Amino acid sequence: MSALVLDGAAVADATIARVADAARALGLTPGLAVVLVGSDPASQVYVGAKGRAAKLCGFHSVQHTLPETTSEAELLALIDDLNRDPAIHGILVQLPLPKAIDSSRVLEAIDPAKDVDGFHPVNVGLAASGVFERALIPCTPAGSMILLDRACELLGRKLDGLDAVIIGRSNIVGKPMAQLLLARNCTVTIAHSRTRDLPAVAARADVLVAAVGRPEMVRGDWVKPGAIVIDVGINRIPAPEKGEGKTRLVGDVAFDEAARVAGAITPVPGGVGKMTIAMLMANTLTAAARAKGLAAPSV
Ligand code: NAD
Repeated sequence: MSALVLDGAAVADATIARVADAARALGLTPGLAVVLVGSDPASQVYVGAKGRAAKLCGFHSVQHTLPETTSEAELLALIDDLNRDPAIHGILVQLPLPKAIDSSRVLEAIDPAKDVDGFHPVNVGLAASGVFERALIPCTPAGSMILLDRACELLGRKLDGLDAVIIGRSNIVGKPMAQLLLARNCTVTIAHSRTRDLPAVAARADVLVAAVGRPEMVRGDWVKPGAIVIDVGINRIPAPEKGEGKTRLVGDVAFDEAARVAGAITPVPGGVGKMTIAMLMANTLTAAARAKGLAAPSV
């Protein structure tokens, strides 16, 4: 293995510690409300981790768990209450929502100033216009950027002018990641399921971001020697070697193959996933600081 393996867990822990310190220094108690509708097991795990991180940061943390049968009107009423609650600075509605509920309506109902996921059209528009100082930026791309900066620092490189290829065009990861890389002067390509000759497109990348949801799709020979590889994918696959019925997590990148070629790479688990939660804490602190008319501390 030749690549530098980026330790997302360590960077995330350090970020969470800085968020906690900054909140204390400003005399703020940021409030985060996490709303879970239904009983999807993966969502329960994510929501639990978010609540624990908020407590670690000394935040006021509340969780609203609603039954699968909750109507859109009931959910909108809860969001209205949270929008008005001065002790709550960040509202996160865990996706996916049950099919009977229109997710876009729900996300649009969140006060953009409390939209710590960064999915409200106002925040999407601010990010697309490059007005990052007033936007709330989606957590996974924001965390990926921190790991990318860390890789550049360790490898002695600058992002300016690099060719970046993002595989995946979702609103949650691919598109906002493209805005962030563009703002840092990368030449950005967004590839997706209809891209022709994806291995050749990927092989042009100095920075390769995989956000697809297909286990180990990106092979070693798709990676340009020395490239920085950010693997956003989280896929659970069977792991019979661990015992019958056991599973393990892998990314969208075939890690061992890619690590032989890349300059730096994020592992799964222990890479981008941890950063997502840390950036949620950072966004909640930003929202709380802005609510008090303070500049958002940089963490
Ligand atoms: P999504 O399903 O919304 O989007 C996937 C994208 O991949 C689509 O734009 C699609 O065009 C593209 N795609 C699908 N098949 C492809 C193929 N064969 N070739 C090229 N492109 C293809 O997914 P998402 O929400 O962006 O999530 C992507 C992955 O990232 C998932 O594994 C998800 O679990 C993971 N994820 C991780 C975090 C984290 O905290 N690390 C956060 C969000 C998502």
